[in-house]
Amino acid sequence: MSLREQLCAYGRRAVELGLVIGTSGNLSVRQGDLVAVTPSGAALDRLTPEMCPIVDVEGYLVEGELQPSSETPMHLAVYETTDAQAIVHTHSVFGTVVATTMTELPPVHYNALLLGGVVKVAEYATYGTPELAANVRAALEGKQAALMANHGGVTIGATLEQAFEATRLLEWLCEVYVRGLGVGKPTILTEEQLAAVVERSFNPPQFPRR
Ligand SMILES: [Zn+2]
Repeated sequence: MSLREQLCAYGRRAVELGLVIGTSGNLSVRQGDLVAVTPSGAALDRLTPEMCPIVDVEGYLVEGELQPSSETPMHLAVYETTDAQAIVHTHSVFGTVVATTMTELPPVHYNALLLGGVVKVAEYATYGTPELAANVRAALEGKQAALMANHGGVTIGATLEQAFEATRLLEWLCEVYVRGLGVGKPTILTEEQLAAVVERSFNPPQFPRR
């Protein structure tokens, strides 16, 4: 699948799963110095490959009639300082709830380790600005995910599939936490408990054969 075809496929999936409504949210995928990104102002479930612009890492439009998403500067800033090959940004409901009410998503489930543990909420700045890009970059340091204050969430991955699954996981973790707060006081996993999970993942149980 070409980079642009991947954007169409995951754009559709993002809408199907309710992670994105209307024209909110944007995806990008990188190959070398080129980045295919979803266009500005287009519904993610109605994209065609030709609609998706290709920019270079310096932000110059290389191919495509439509303008790149207004969050492209944020995508490029993240590519500049991480080894990410794909980025997914949505305004998913539970992610946005956490991003508007808290300063971080604490690890209430051990799967948070897949995103780097605590997920930080990047300080608010106007969408599309270099300030927002810098805030997101800082919150993402050493992690696969960040939330953006009063805005949404962003995840990165080595492939678009990975970045997309990270977005699904981020939304699930936010939902568990928010629903947990409605029921009682969610327990936060300790450093030791999380370290034990990492240890366990390196030493999975071996079942003897008969
Ligand atoms: Zn946004």
